[in-house]
Amino acid sequence: MTSFTKHISFIEKNFAELKPSTEVALDLKYATTDNFMKQNIYDGFNRCFVSPVTHLMFIKACVELRLFHPDLKFLIWDTLRPRSIQAQFYDHLKGTPFQNYVANPNPGSLHNFGMAMDLTLQTKDGVPLDMGTGFDDFADLSQPKLENKFLASGQLTQQQFDNRLLLRNVLENQGFQVLEHEWWHFNALPKDQVYGIFPILD
Ligand SMILES: [Zn+2]
Repeated sequence: MTSFTKHISFIEKNFAELKPSTEVALDLKYATTDNFMKQNIYDGFNRCFVSPVTHLMFIKACVELRLFHPDLKFLIWDTLRPRSIQAQFYDHLKGTPFQNYVANPNPGSLHNFGMAMDLTLQTKDGVPLDMGTGFDDFADLSQPKLENKFLASGQLTQQQFDNRLLLRNVLENQGFQVLEHEWWHFNALPKDQVYGIFPILD
């Protein structure tokens, strides 16, 4: 039994569910074996929850997308994640060159609070926009802080660069903040406004 099923009433009481819609598609990667753990780590639990704060911000981003980019929708890869699973990720990558890509379960990732979203954009026909790397590609090329360098060197094309900017603009217009080393990860609030204030999913 995963923490999701064990704590389902806590989740349904404290978090808001996102369902597929005109602006939203779901492909929850950790509920499949197509992820860096190569395991169905969520044991098939493929419902998408976020904190109410995140939900409000994200719905506004959906409205912006509908108005200004009606040919696109969000493709969500991961949102609320239990801290117990965060610990498994952390142990898996500890001591490897990739350990900076996974937050320490103490005090926890913002995913454990439903305050972070991993997502991209796709066409209404279901074709993901080319962002230069895929989800959880733990490579320098995934890092927003290095994008200008990679654009100059040609490792990122102008189109890939622009696609990332589009995703970022739509979300950051509503107050989300991209993580500097993962183009697909957005925080709804800074950590110091979350820890000790909002409920965490253990
Ligand atoms: Zn993330």
